[in-house]
Amino acid sequence: TQQFVWPLAQFGQIINMYQRAHASSARIFGLMDEPARLAEKKDAPDLVVSEGRVEYDDVTFGYDDGDPIVEDISFDVGGGETLALVGPTGAGKSTILKLLMRMYDTDEGSVSIDGQDVRDVALSSLRESIAYVSQETFLFYGTVEENIAYGTFDADHEDIVAAAKAAEAHDFISNLPNGYDTKVGERGVKLSGGQRQRVSIARAILKDPEILVLDEATSDVDTETEMLIQRSLDSLTADRTTFSIAHRLSTIKDADQIVVLEDGRIVERGTHDDLLTEDGLYAHLWGVQAGEIDQLPDEFVERAAR
Ligand code: ADP
Repeated sequence: TQQFVWPLAQFGQIINMYQRAHASSARIFGLMDEPARLAEKKDAPDLVVSEGRVEYDDVTFGYDDGDPIVEDISFDVGGGETLALVGPTGAGKSTILKLLMRMYDTDEGSVSIDGQDVRDVALSSLRESIAYVSQETFLFYGTVEENIAYGTFDADHEDIVAAAKAAEAHDFISNLPNGYDTKVGERGVKLSGGQRQRVSIARAILKDPEILVLDEATSDVDTETEMLIQRSLDSLTADRTTFSIAHRLSTIKDADQIVVLEDGRIVERGTHDDLLTEDGLYAHLWGVQAGEIDQLPDEFVERAAR
């Protein structure tokens, strides 16, 4: 999921835009490294999210007119539900979510939110409706408080502290040299992966979007921090359409749907219990993570490596 990181070269540009425009929470999105070759329809109406239902209809996409990276992707996520994407690195999980956020357009098929094709609505409205949470969230050089408020226009200090508390970030922020006024980001105090993750959760809580995209932490945080993060995520995802890229299967066990990808295609789908019964890739990954089997059987490793 490296693609979500903002390259350093663009930091200045982005801060500039932030100061200049302060207008569209598109920028919170952290996805500005993507080529801006998407045409917005003239006078495109704003996206109107009623339920938060998301539909992928036979989506195929490849970067730079190359071979398809994801193929024939179809699923339907009801408003408020959680869909988890599981699969080996490079399987296409992030790519699928980039199409939702319209960082790229599909080559074939469509992605729609409450019946509106993402290509037909104003980009700013699309991005205002979605928050992206990850450890790799972009922090600009500014105070923690400004970083949490990034993308929300009318937040006052109390709102920001409340969001930080809900994200289990208040305690560590209070312990920074200047508390909420501590400068972070490129030249500021360096935050750990787990701390960045919580700043990004606080940002999303403050933003209160209809749709949430979670790229689960992979780096090591201690168990206590992990529990804190999980607790704040649980409250954030409740009753909100959520897409989750999971690395640890225990965190997505309760998802309404789990879609297993291999090499750009959906190979399994269902609930956790369904997939265990199927005894395929998911069941074996689960077995490994639960310590029930030592390693993934060769057939799956070979398939993933293809
Ligand atoms: P996952 O999230 O499952 O690890 P990705 O969607 O990030 O998979 O990547 C799927 C494939 O697309 C990989 O082979 C990756 O190298 C390729 N890819 C990802 N981003 C780009 C990009 N911006 N340009 C070209 N290829 C890309």
